[in-house]
Amino acid sequence: MLQDDVGRAVEALRSARRVAAFTGAGVSAESGLATFRGAGGLWEGHRVEEVASPDAFAADPMRVWRFYDQRRTNAAKARPNPAHMVLAGWQDRFGRFTLATQNVDGLHQGAGSRGVIELHGSLWRVRCTGCGREREDRTTPLRELPPRCAACGAMERPGVVWFGEAVPAEAFLAAQAAVVYPAAGLVGIAAAAGATVIEVNPAASALAGLAGVTLRGPAGEMLPRVDALLAGG
Ligand SMILES: [Zn+2]
Repeated sequence: MLQDDVGRAVEALRSARRVAAFTGAGVSAESGLATFRGAGGLWEGHRVEEVASPDAFAADPMRVWRFYDQRRTNAAKARPNPAHMVLAGWQDRFGRFTLATQNVDGLHQGAGSRGVIELHGSLWRVRCTGCGREREDRTTPLRELPPRCAACGAMERPGVVWFGEAVPAEAFLAAQAAVVYPAAGLVGIAAAAGATVIEVNPAASALAGLAGVTLRGPAGEMLPRVDALLAGG
């Protein structure tokens, strides 16, 4: 039965004129990274909202930066897993392929994916709270916490989307152009537009009801199986 589901996924992908992949916490978790989003995410006893929101940053920027510095350090050591690798390969397999992710660790790019739409920003970008200048910084751990803007001296913040913040406009537009829609609404809109939704998840997600094909298992196992059949012609 599972093999049938894989076969149906392959069939849907083969007949697709465009393919959009949307990844979330599970794909990062398979590379050993905690993402803290979702139920019960705690860091050093703090609820994730207490270290990943504008209010938290205003109240205690040092605590927020320690949280992100640790996440950056962990992400720097993590390696892309087979799910990342398969999706990187699919940008060449499919003529029109879009990859949007809620993950901020850069592992899709690490696997070779180009033009990744980062709906929640990136751990590797920092943004000045004063002049708004954004820059990439791959240093782990950061030399100075909190980091300061070289241009104006103001404190910098992580270039990620926090709880209570909107997805950046450019990511929003790019996602829309791919008939993709940020965050939770994405899959619903794709389904309403007639897309075949393939859910890859070890457990049923909130979006399982929209899925035309369900692959119940870790993405790092399921996507290579689909890919092997696609490659087999
Ligand atoms: Zn500045």
